[in-house]
Amino acid sequence: MINRFDPHVVLAALKSVLPPKQSAVALHEPQFRGNELPYVKECIDTGWVSSTGKFVDRFERQLEEYTGVKRAVAVVNGTAALHICLKLSGVEDGDEVLVPTLTFVATANAVTYCKAIPHFIDSEVRTLGVDPFKLEMYLTEIAEVLHEGCFNMQTGRRIKAVIAMHTFGHPVDIEPLVDICNRFKIVLIEDAAESLGSYYKGRHTGSWGLCSALSFNGNKTVTTGGGGAILTNDEDIGKMAKHITTTAKLPHEWAFNHDMIGYNYRMPNINAALGCAQLEQLPGFLERKRALAERYKSTFVEIEDVEFFTEPEFARSNYWLNVLLLNNEDIDIRDMILEKTNSNGIMTRPLWTLMHKLPMFKQYPRMDLSTAENLEKRLINIPSSASLV
Ligand SMILES: *Cc1c(COP(=O)(O)O)cnc(C)c1O
Repeated sequence: MINRFDPHVVLAALKSVLPPKQSAVALHEPQFRGNELPYVKECIDTGWVSSTGKFVDRFERQLEEYTGVKRAVAVVNGTAALHICLKLSGVEDGDEVLVPTLTFVATANAVTYCKAIPHFIDSEVRTLGVDPFKLEMYLTEIAEVLHEGCFNMQTGRRIKAVIAMHTFGHPVDIEPLVDICNRFKIVLIEDAAESLGSYYKGRHTGSWGLCSALSFNGNKTVTTGGGGAILTNDEDIGKMAKHITTTAKLPHEWAFNHDMIGYNYRMPNINAALGCAQLEQLPGFLERKRALAERYKSTFVEIEDVEFFTEPEFARSNYWLNVLLLNNEDIDIRDMILEKTNSNGIMTRPLWTLMHKLPMFKQYPRMDLSTAENLEKRLINIPSSASLV
C-alpha cells in the first residue's frame, strides 16, 4: 500500500507514450483522412443532404457486413437508437429495466423515455460491465418467473429487459448473461455505443441481444458528426425499426400516410456520407488504437500501484477509451492525478458519476453496487485517439 503516491509518476509515464504536442492532448479525437470530403461534397453537389439518399442505405449495408447482423438502421444518435431498442423489445409504462449503474447517462435516460423504471445493477472488475453471476444471485432472491414474464417481488413490477453496456469498448461476459436472460424471461438489449470493432468470442458485440444500439458521436471510434444505429438479427424488429424511425410513413409516390405514431430519428444522408468514409478506415483505426494500448500496457507494467486495464480473455476489444486502475481507493490520489495531468495538457477523466447517485435516478431500485463504487474511486480514462500512434 502506498502512503503518498506521487502523481508525477503517472504524468511522466503518459508523456513517455504520447507524441509531443503543442496543444492539449484530447481524450478522443476524430480523424478524417479518407473519402470524407468527396462523399460529403457529393451530397452537397446533388442536393441529397437530408433524410433520404444513397449514403444512408450504403452505410446501413456496410454496418451489416462489418458486424454480421441481419439488419442495421441508421438513426440520429445512440440515445435515440436505445429508445427504439427498448420500445421494440416491448418495454412499457411501469416496467423495470435492469441498467448498470456504471454507464453513461444516456442508457438510463432512454429507459425513462419509455416511462419505464431503471433498476440499477453492479459491474465486475474483470470487464467493467454487468456481473452476470451477481445478477443471477440477485434475481434468484428478488424475482419470480411467471407465464407473463419476470416480476420483482419487492415492487410487484415486471422486469422486462436488461441493458448490457460494453464499457469503454470492453465486452461484457455475454454468454452467461444470455443464459440468465433466457431462464428469467428477460429481454437482452446491448448498449454497444462504445464497442464498434469489439468482439466476444469472435462474434461482434451488439449481435447477441434482441437488438442493440451503436453511437457515432464525435468522440466514438467512428463518427458521423452525430449519429447512431440499431442492430438486430430479428427481421420483424429490423423492419419495424426502420418504419418507426422514419415517421411510420407508408411508401407511396406522392401521398402522405402514416399507420402509427412514429419518430423522426433517421440519420441525414450527409452524416451517413461521413460514416461510409469512416467505416472504410475502421480497420486502420483499430490497429492504431491497439498499438497505443500495447504501449500503455508495457509502460504501466513498470509502475507500481497503477494498472493498465486490458481486454478480458474471451474478448477482442476496440480499446475505445483506455483505462488506468489505481490500486488505492483513496479518491484524493485519483484527483491529484487528474489535476496534475489536465493542468499539464494531457486530458484525463474520472468515471461517469454512477447513475444511482444522480438526482433524477436516486429513488430507483438497486442491488448492492459495491464493485461499481469501488471502480469509481480508482478509474481514470487516458488519451486514446487513433492519431496518437
Ligand atoms: C455515447 C454513448 C451513448 C449515446 O450516444 P449518443 O450518440 O451520444 O446519443 C449511449 N451509451 C453509451 C454507453 C455511450 O457511451
